[in-house]
Amino acid sequence: MNEWEWTVNESGELVKTPIDPNQPKVRKPNPPRRMRENSKYEHGNHLRYYTDGCRCDDCRRAATLYAKQVRHKRYQTPFSEIPHGTKNGYANFGCRCEPCTKAMRAYARQYPESPEAKAKRNERKKAKRALEKANRQTSV
Ligand SMILES: [Zn+2]
Ligand SMILES: [Zn+2]
Repeated sequence: MNEWEWTVNESGELVKTPIDPNQPKVRKPNPPRRMRENSKYEHGNHLRYYTDGCRCDDCRRAATLYAKQVRHKRYQTPFSEIPHGTKNGYANFGCRCEPCTKAMRAYARQYPESPEAKAKRNERKKAKRALEKANRQTSV
């Protein structure tokens, strides 16, 4: 089965993007940190956030709102179009059919061993240590 997901393209439109399971995941380069000087978009436009890399409060808020809409749109995907039996179907499309639930469970089972999970655990440990340290300092 061909897996796909909704993604936002360069011009900020929602596009169906096929996921090739044989292709190793490549991290997309981050959008340029430095803002483009003559943005076509106003602040508070999610396109300014996505295409021009503006991270001001207004643009960030617009991008968050837009991401919410993307999720909402995904959740409205007709049942027949959802890539069932995949973690994608469960997590991104909110499908709770048996094959999707099973795929998610399988993923969750192997998740603790994934580098992603290890990195997260490390981060949490670090945060906890920092908090304990801060508490110690304030209690003295
Ligand atoms: Zn902005
Ligand atoms: Zn499903």
